[in-house]
Amino acid sequence: MDGIREHLDALLASCDAESTRSRDPVDFVHGYDAPCDQEVVGLVAASLAFGNAVAARRSIDRVLTILGPEPAATVAGASHAELRRRLRGFVHRIYRGEHLASVLWRAGELLREHETLGKAFAHFHREGEGDFREGLARFADALRGHVTSRSVRHLVSDPRAGSACKRLVLYSRWMVRPADGVDLGLWPIAPSELVIPVDTHIHRISRNLGLTNRRTATWATAEEITAALRKFDPEDPVKYDFALCHLGVSRECPSRPDPAKCEQCVLQDVCSVWTTGRGKTPGDFSEEIQ
Ligand code: SF4
Repeated sequence: MDGIREHLDALLASCDAESTRSRDPVDFVHGYDAPCDQEVVGLVAASLAFGNAVAARRSIDRVLTILGPEPAATVAGASHAELRRRLRGFVHRIYRGEHLASVLWRAGELLREHETLGKAFAHFHREGEGDFREGLARFADALRGHVTSRSVRHLVSDPRAGSACKRLVLYSRWMVRPADGVDLGLWPIAPSELVIPVDTHIHRISRNLGLTNRRTATWATAEEITAALRKFDPEDPVKYDFALCHLGVSRECPSRPDPAKCEQCVLQDVCSVWTTGRGKTPGDFSEEIQ
């Protein structure tokens, strides 16, 4: 039986990135040319990629309209009061305009101090002695500032706290992975350091493939899945994330085996849910992912 890497590579090759991107929040980032704008738009889009996808897109669109055609200049030039005024009345799930204004104002401070958010991240990465999780945690600390609001702590979560911090990690994937029509390769960090953004889809499919056995989507789960993927591509372990995630988002990967979908799936031979669901013994790929 073919190995997991070969099947993941087949999934990657079969993913129509351009049309899939149009349904992904990263698409907003590609509407801007200047890297500094792409960084700020990415921060907004990743932070609000929470809850119903249609509602999230509407909220992201509304915030970007409020910030205008040069969002980085707006964020870097506006006072906290000005950003609060602009975002007054904005609501997305548990977030209010004031919460987003607080984070964007802090992002503006980072832009004024470091010129780009990528340079700011690199600064925190160095302060964290090159540890990706610690660097990301320090970057998140800077975006939260001294605000203790529960919503702001949820909007920009803390990787040290143990959760998978999916949206923050997703943002870093967009900014760090090489430009490939989806990700942008803007930040001076090696893609090999990235951790996979784990949501319910990545968690479920990773369990199907035996990349993790953990039952909850924690930071440890993200690290375990990433470590497994690193065996397939040490330089760029999270390159499979976009295709895997959209296999779940598109509902092409059901939570229970469904012949109508699974028989078309390029991962079927290495998916324990499908092979055991059909009475077969799943392949032993343990050596491959250890
Ligand atoms: S075989 Fe079915 S359950 Fe397994 S990954 Fe593919 S679509 Fe999902």
